[in-house]
Amino acid sequence: MSLMTGEEYIESIRKRKMQVYLFGKKVEDPVDDPILRPSLNSVRMTYDLAQMPEYEDLMTAVSPYTGRRVNRFTHIHQSAGDLVKKVKMQRLLGQKTAACFQRCVGMDAFNAVFSTTYETDRKYATHYHENFKQFMIYCQDNDLTVDGAMTDPKGDRSKAPHEQADPDLFLRVVERRPDGIVVRGAKAHQTGALNSHEIIIMPTISMGPDDKDYAVSFAVPMDTPGIFMIIGRQSCDTRKREGSELDVGNAEFGGVEALTIFDDVFVPNERIFLNGETEFAGMMVERFAGYHRQSYGGCKVGVGDVLIGAAAVAADYNGAARASHIKDKLIEMTHLNETLYCCGIACSAEGHPTDSGNYIIDLLLANVCKQNVTRFPYEIARLAEDIAGGLMVTAPSEADLRDEKLGAYVEKYLKGVSGVSTENRLRILRLIENLTLGTAAVGYRTESLHGAGSPQAQRIMIARQGNLQHKKELAKTIAHIKE
Ligand code: SF4
Ligand code: FE
Repeated sequence: MSLMTGEEYIESIRKRKMQVYLFGKKVEDPVDDPILRPSLNSVRMTYDLAQMPEYEDLMTAVSPYTGRRVNRFTHIHQSAGDLVKKVKMQRLLGQKTAACFQRCVGMDAFNAVFSTTYETDRKYATHYHENFKQFMIYCQDNDLTVDGAMTDPKGDRSKAPHEQADPDLFLRVVERRPDGIVVRGAKAHQTGALNSHEIIIMPTISMGPDDKDYAVSFAVPMDTPGIFMIIGRQSCDTRKREGSELDVGNAEFGGVEALTIFDDVFVPNERIFLNGETEFAGMMVERFAGYHRQSYGGCKVGVGDVLIGAAAVAADYNGAARASHIKDKLIEMTHLNETLYCCGIACSAEGHPTDSGNYIIDLLLANVCKQNVTRFPYEIARLAEDIAGGLMVTAPSEADLRDEKLGAYVEKYLKGVSGVSTENRLRILRLIENLTLGTAAVGYRTESLHGAGSPQAQRIMIARQGNLQHKKELAKTIAHIKE
């Protein structure tokens, strides 16, 4: 089998018996839960679009390992052109879902683990690269969604993994057996874990020799015994249970995150990609983070397109579209959004091969990309709220709009320009609310800040990659300074 249809994907997830908890209770049927289902629909879009001939070039690629066509989300980048297509694909999916479609973390983990295992094997004669390749081909051939899990809870940030009061605050190996390892710990903020067939674990920081048990990377199915997920609360999440599609703003798509717990999980030898080679933990982290910082130059831009469009529609419905300051705000939003896209494309176009042969982005430019993502969506969201007006947060519910007595008043007093129904005006405002303050704000705002590493993490990389010495030399040459 190769590419799954969206429907086949949904049914394949239904078959995995994952342990999911929400509001203190086990969810027996996560696929049909109203709070969780929109996030599954977002991933489904990565399957649906791959079936459409017009998107084949963006959404799929031919695997050099099998010669078969695979979903790009399981592809190992073979050129800078592949890196560019990745960003374009992510923008497209952001436009189609206005949410986090989750599957990128697996793609980014694939490419980081591919090159890091190659270099680890070269130094230690280990077998990790072949292990990974077998796993990758299995995922490609079965068109699986893979979660890429990096972020440990981290406890006291001033302490290394082995120094923590509770040794489980970074995921670690607790037992080594002839046939594999047993791991314990947790990965926080796991976007898409719930909707993934498999999960790749990676370390979260560079490590020293004392952190041997923490320098571990592997992949297991999401329904492996010992793994369970506690779903995060989101602003306005229970609106999805109320039955009003209008009040939700984006009823079809969304994203959820999970605190994913590994309670003594067995990992067989053939699924291990790093096990104690501490000096390669940092390389894996840096590469995964670099790829995911590139990713944000695609996905957030696509969601930004929807938000800019929503603000423009709100302006139309308010009768304000011709005001010069509104036009200027829409220009500013577009400028900011396209600047992010420029960064995503630039770090991709400047990509280069690693020793293993796959392509990696320009790390400096990818970190600049993500640093801008920590700021611009906030300004785009502020301008969208400015254009939308206060009604975005004070409008009555759909129940009032439909009420026999109140409905007529809501219709009358919340009407904008003639020719546009009050309902449509409320719909567009709810979408802006969803993106800036509701469930999707997790993905568009706070995730823009902290996802793929908080702002300071990029600044450290920018300092490291910025080559200040070279710039000093340039200045001294121009100024004819001889020291
Ligand atoms: Fe993909 Fe963006 Fe979600 Fe990351 S935040 S998984 S890049 S959609
Ligand atoms: Fe993310």
